[in-house]
Amino acid sequence: MRTPIIAGNWKLFKKCCDAQDFVAKLIPLVQKTSDVEIVIAPVFTVLSTVKQAIAGSNIKLSAQDCFWEEEGAFTGEISPGMLVDAGCSHVIIGHSERRQYFGETDETVNRKIKAAIAAGLTVLFCIGETLAERETDKTFEVLRTQVENGLAGLARDDLAKVVIAYEPVWAIGTGKTATDEQAQVAHAFIRKVVGELFTVQLAEAIRILYGGSVKPENVRGLMNQPDIDGALVGGASLKADSFGAIVNYKA
Ligand code: PEP
Repeated sequence: MRTPIIAGNWKLFKKCCDAQDFVAKLIPLVQKTSDVEIVIAPVFTVLSTVKQAIAGSNIKLSAQDCFWEEEGAFTGEISPGMLVDAGCSHVIIGHSERRQYFGETDETVNRKIKAAIAAGLTVLFCIGETLAERETDKTFEVLRTQVENGLAGLARDDLAKVVIAYEPVWAIGTGKTATDEQAQVAHAFIRKVVGELFTVQLAEAIRILYGGSVKPENVRGLMNQPDIDGALVGGASLKADSFGAIVNYKA
């Protein structure tokens, strides 16, 4: 049985007061939700505020990125060990916005994943095709390459610390969601590739989240798909009531 994860990616939104208000509203909505792992990913400057606000709750803390070196002359970077120190259990790596705007490549993603796992973090490893890639029938090729390169050199034991987030770039922040069937086909393919790279057993155990305009109205159909194990939510994670409704998709 794969425990579902609902993770909220706040992107570049929310300062300390907004984050505190959000958590205070979210906790009563989700405190009885025991069979879903709940994660929120604020900006770095708000991590310690959110850590205090979620203390004693069932909500876990994630960062949105990290560097691969633990320390050194790398101005502006944050290391995996520092994220653990700040209270994070999770980190998002390889989000398409980082690939698109900040020069993230499969190689840097791979280095970050290895460093994050070594520090004890669980990685939310993002992959996904662009619209042009989908329209030219390159989706499977792109997903295979991203999975192979992102997970290159990982040991079998490392896989327990990896959650894959399938986020078709054309569905992120656009209001266009992949249909339940489109998402399921991609997830099943990703699971097959993980099975080829590692073992079928590990592929069955790994959790694969869908991301791309997930909302309270569409989450249930997606979560009913056999290979969809959760959601990485951007826009709809910014309001406690909509994020709470997504977390409580079974209700
Ligand atoms: C995301 O930021 O990972 C995301 C999926 O955004 P949205 O839900 O807004 O499409």
